[in-house]
Amino acid sequence: MSSSTHSVVIVGYGGMGSYHAKLILDNTRLKVTGTFDVLASRREASQNDGYPAYESYEAVLGDPAVDVILIATPNDVHKELVISALKHGKHVICEKPVTMYVKDFEEMMAVAEETGRVLMVHQNRRWDEDFRIIKEMYDKKTIGDLFQIESRVHGANGIPGDWRHLEAYGGGMLLDWGVHLLDQFVFMIDSKITSVTSRLSFILGDEVDDGFDAVLEFENGVTAIVEVGTTNFITLPRWYVKGTEGTAVIEDWSLTGRSVVQNHEVGKIEPKPIKAGVGLTKTMAPPSEEATLTEALPKAFEHESSFYDNFAAVVEGTAEPIVKNSEVLRVLNLIENVFKSARTREVIKDFDTYEPKK
Ligand code: NAD
Repeated sequence: MSSSTHSVVIVGYGGMGSYHAKLILDNTRLKVTGTFDVLASRREASQNDGYPAYESYEAVLGDPAVDVILIATPNDVHKELVISALKHGKHVICEKPVTMYVKDFEEMMAVAEETGRVLMVHQNRRWDEDFRIIKEMYDKKTIGDLFQIESRVHGANGIPGDWRHLEAYGGGMLLDWGVHLLDQFVFMIDSKITSVTSRLSFILGDEVDDGFDAVLEFENGVTAIVEVGTTNFITLPRWYVKGTEGTAVIEDWSLTGRSVVQNHEVGKIEPKPIKAGVGLTKTMAPPSEEATLTEALPKAFEHESSFYDNFAAVVEGTAEPIVKNSEVLRVLNLIENVFKSARTREVIKDFDTYEPKK
């Protein structure tokens, strides 16, 4: 392989492993040269898709032509697979959650450090356009300072698949969608988390959570409300955000949305009372049209490169990782405390040791 094309073997050729293979087809710096899966049926699927399947993980580790191992197995085996890959001199991309516990990720990071290999976690939803629009609004203050950011994903299909229902495999929605939504906040908000309160839901009767909600308070005054649900036949908006100058909403993945801001040229207009239910209210009357401006959402900020290009550049020593292991560690610590708050029904404080950069 030339220095700018890295040979990748995907370990775990299931839903996400095969999706990586499709995505990497469009990438010029990474090339999928093979796969390994414990299931013969998935090895056969890989061969049919044109990717040779190794017969064992040891065979992948022992192949000097392999530069990068991409781990896309269920969560419980990430740690052992990542550590042995690093010890065999391979660079590693690992699916999220990289593991379930802070102490396990600390061990993995130590091995990456000792071996001098790159370990990067696939927190791909930092590239989602809906998130990048909200980050743009946060950074550029397009509706003033955002002080409440509500991030929700709602489905009505329950927990998918098999292993996601089981605790031993790292199942449950906090360790699935929760990881993405919490990672987006840690990436966006450069401030220490001062407290977390949360509840898990077990509507479907599984041993793992089928959803959760969490409230995070940041030292800079921002409150984040995060919710994942799998029994929501009517969905709430993907994002609802309040700023000191207005409110914005992004309804869904198609990015339907708007901001409504104060029209300072008009000044304050006294609202007219409206009939609400059987009563009368001025407080809850909608703002008059002249007093507000409805605007399109801003254009999303752009990362300097795609996840895969950034990974290749980090391997080549020409870029810093966009997904930093220190951030991944912080999210795992947050998740441990979301579980703790749900278990103890307490507000958990003083767990985040982060110091803002700015
Ligand atoms: P899946 O069940 O569809 O696929 C997992 C595959 O791994 C299966 O084919 C299974 O046979 C194989 N496997 C299990 N143990 C193995 C081992 N020890 N060695 C080799 N292969 C093994 O699961 P999935 O939905 O593809 O999820 C896989 C990982 O990807 C999980 O960590 C999940 O959280 C993550 N994921 C990430 C995203 C994302 O957008 N970043 C989306 C979906 C899944």
